[in-house]
Amino acid sequence: MADIIQLLPDSIANQIAAGEVIQRPASVVKELVENAVDAGAKVIKLIVKDSGKTLIQVVDDGCGMSETDARMSFERHATSKISSAADLFKIKTKGFRGEALASISAIAHVDLITRKPDDELGTHLLIEGSKIRKQEPCQAAPGTTFSVRNLFYNVPARRKFLKSDAVELRHIIEELIRISLAHPDIFFSMYHNDNEIYHMPVGNLRQRIIHIFGKSYNDRIVPVKEGTENLVITGFIGKPEFAKKTRGEQYLFVNNRYIKSHYLHHAIRSSYEDLISKDHHPSYMMFMEIDPEQIDVNVHPTKTEIKFEEERLIYNYVKVAVKHALGQYNVAPVIDFNVDYNFTQGRVLENRSSVSSRESKEHQSSFSRIENENQRDNQREWQSLYEGLLTQDEKTVRVESKWSQGDLVEEDKQSNKEKKPPYQIHNTFVISQIKSGFLLIDQNAAHERILYEKYLKSIEQQGLPTQKQLFPETITLKKAEAETMETILPIINKLGFDINSLGPGTFIIHGEPVGKEKSQSGKVLIEKLLNQFENNLEFQLGINENLARSMAVTTALRKGVSLSVEEMDELIDQLFACSVPYSSPSGRKCFISMEMEDLKKRFTIQ
Ligand code: ADP
Ligand code: MG
Repeated sequence: MADIIQLLPDSIANQIAAGEVIQRPASVVKELVENAVDAGAKVIKLIVKDSGKTLIQVVDDGCGMSETDARMSFERHATSKISSAADLFKIKTKGFRGEALASISAIAHVDLITRKPDDELGTHLLIEGSKIRKQEPCQAAPGTTFSVRNLFYNVPARRKFLKSDAVELRHIIEELIRISLAHPDIFFSMYHNDNEIYHMPVGNLRQRIIHIFGKSYNDRIVPVKEGTENLVITGFIGKPEFAKKTRGEQYLFVNNRYIKSHYLHHAIRSSYEDLISKDHHPSYMMFMEIDPEQIDVNVHPTKTEIKFEEERLIYNYVKVAVKHALGQYNVAPVIDFNVDYNFTQGRVLENRSSVSSRESKEHQSSFSRIENENQRDNQREWQSLYEGLLTQDEKTVRVESKWSQGDLVEEDKQSNKEKKPPYQIHNTFVISQIKSGFLLIDQNAAHERILYEKYLKSIEQQGLPTQKQLFPETITLKKAEAETMETILPIINKLGFDINSLGPGTFIIHGEPVGKEKSQSGKVLIEKLLNQFENNLEFQLGINENLARSMAVTTALRKGVSLSVEEMDELIDQLFACSVPYSSPSGRKCFISMEMEDLKKRFTIQ
């Protein structure tokens, strides 16, 4: 029998490849605009007619192409961006596969006019279905203009499946937004059917966000900035109260390339914990800088998927960064710190230079270092609330010296600033005076927050100390409960218990967490804990989160418990050392604040 395998002609191979890269007009926009960015353009203009079905034109003022390069650019696997396999691991450009132009020209009519700034004449090329129809020198401005007409003219199935103009236009705009967010240093504009619909002058990221999404975004976003030598995260996240029911503006970039990652999305979403309800979505425009050797972008032709070498660490790090940003924001609008929202910008980055290189290799340690750092930051910011308020001892010294100078007036002012001890009302709330007014703290919610963070940390890290029992108790559980208990036993033991399974449904408690309240037997505590754990299952938390939360709810200070001044002070200190001090793990507010100004207003006659 005769041999039957033959090589496909290039034009067909390109058409097949095009199926992967070019799915709709927006894909053409993405490829052409990315090429313009790679060409070093400072001004990029996108002109679209009938949602790209009639025309997609991209005009740039970039480096242009020589006559030969202009022809070459349409060949498959023709690229100026990499030349060896090793280059794949240090990609800084958007493109590198050299297949976009080959694909586009296989399924559309492409008109290219290009001139290198130093050349006198430019080149004009006309390509239809991979065939060059015309090539001639021409007058042209420096830079490149690609015009793509009659997309999918020879792939009727594709053309038929295009969505309505409105939907296709939405996709195009989405691509433009992704690229323009990553490059606020480039001027972008977009015209649809001769109307200018985007005009984005050069500026910083905040200004770019406002140009794209509108002025109101200025008040809706807070900055994120976090870094180690391995990873730097910058950008903005949306304030929780502006979260939307629809998945709104969610943009994640790695080395300035827009990526889709359910995994990291989850990290961001979970940092909002209970700040937003389940059916709402936060917005974010976050940028991660990471050593290109640590990632693989060559997973899919559209390059929006990416593989990380250290996925788990990056997940945690993103979570910490978002939490930290939220933590700073959530206190800032309620109480005036007299500091810019950006107050810690650069601090974490500065810190990294002080870390020895050995330590820097240990990612894990640098991540937990950042977490500790954040905690200290939080505490420091909170301390500033009380700044200028004198303790009783300091006050006495001051007053004495003032008296000796006979400066009575001055003394009077000082006494306003005396640091008053906290005060408990109805054994439920704690009032704490701060510089600008006072905080009213819900002791139960606050303690839940403190314990939750403590428990979570000990589950994930070294565990809590155990007090051995002289007379071990046994518990017998029903089948379902016993099964749950078996699965979570190792984690329960990290919380300071020492419990063994004795076979079907029976467990023995050898030890309990140090400092556990005496009045509650270990057996009762475990039963409550299991009950709480079951109740929390509907929230679909991870086992660790669920258990930390259950244990916090079960053991937190109840209302009705009287607290000494020292205990209240400790509660306040610990609360503000938390990474999310403003709400309990189940979303209740831990405190509210009242400003003196507001207080005064309440007493004025209306
Ligand atoms: P890739 O971007 O992966 O290299 P493309 O098919 O998109 O592949 O482009 C092929 C080549 O054409 C690029 O490597 C680049 O050298 C050249 N090129 C494409 N667009 C432009 C442009 N707007 N300005 C200058 N050169 C361009
Ligand atoms: Mg390209």
